[in-house]
Amino acid sequence: MYVVILGPPGAGKGTQAVRLAAATSLAHVATGDMFRDNIRSGTELGRLAEGYITQGELVPDRLTIDILMDRLEEPDTVSGAIFDGFPRTIPQAQSLDEALQDRNRQVDVALLIDVAEAEILRRLSGRWTCPNCGAVFQERTDPPKRDGECDNCGKPLAQRPDDAPAAIRNRLQVYREQTAPLVAYYEKAGLLIPIDGERPPDAVQTALLGALEPISA
Ligand code: AMP
Repeated sequence: MYVVILGPPGAGKGTQAVRLAAATSLAHVATGDMFRDNIRSGTELGRLAEGYITQGELVPDRLTIDILMDRLEEPDTVSGAIFDGFPRTIPQAQSLDEALQDRNRQVDVALLIDVAEAEILRRLSGRWTCPNCGAVFQERTDPPKRDGECDNCGKPLAQRPDDAPAAIRNRLQVYREQTAPLVAYYEKAGLLIPIDGERPPDAVQTALLGALEPISA
C-alpha cells in the first residue's frame, strides 16, 4: 500500500507519518528528513538543498524527484510506503505515479491532514525538534517532559531554522501556490480522504488508521 500524506507545514504530517509507519509496518519516506540528513552529513545534495530549506522555499523538483527515486530503489519500499512531505508539486506527483506504474503499483490513498492557517502559525512557532533523533514537541499541546530536553535521547531541543517567522510565512505561501493544487489532483483521481487535523495527535492518528483500514483490508 502506498500512502501520500498531504497537509500544510505544521499540520502534523511528520508525527503522524512516523506513527502510521509503525502501526502498518510500511516504510516511512520523508524527503524533508532526507534533506536534513544530507545537510548534517555535509553532502553535495545537502549543500544544494540547504539554502532553499532555510528560506522556506521548495527544493527544485529535479533534485527532490532524484532522491525520491533513489529511495524507491531500497528494498523496504517494495511492499509499500508512507510518503511524508512528498509530493509537494504536481510534477512530483506525476513522477511518483509514473515510478509506481513502472512497478505495477499505484498511490492507493492520499490523506489530507486539514488544519487552518491561524492554527498552523501557532504550531510552527511553538515547535521544538531534537537535532539528534528527530523527535518533535509542541510547546502547548505536546511539551517535552523536561524543558528544552528530548524525551527520547536527552539531547537539547532546537527550533528548525525554517520555523523562523519569515520562513513560516514563505512556506505557507509556497504551500498555497505549489502544494495545495495536489488536493484537487488526488481528489480527481478519487484518492483523497480529508481528516480534521485540529485535534489531539492520538485522535488524528485514530482517524488516519480508520481511513486506511478499508484500503489495507
Ligand atoms: P518538511 O520536513 O517536510 O517540512 O520539509 C522541510 C523542507 O524541505 C521544506 O520546507 C522544503 O524546503 C524541503 N522539502 C521537503 N520535501 C520537499 C519536496 N517534496 N519538494 C521540495 N522541497 C521539499
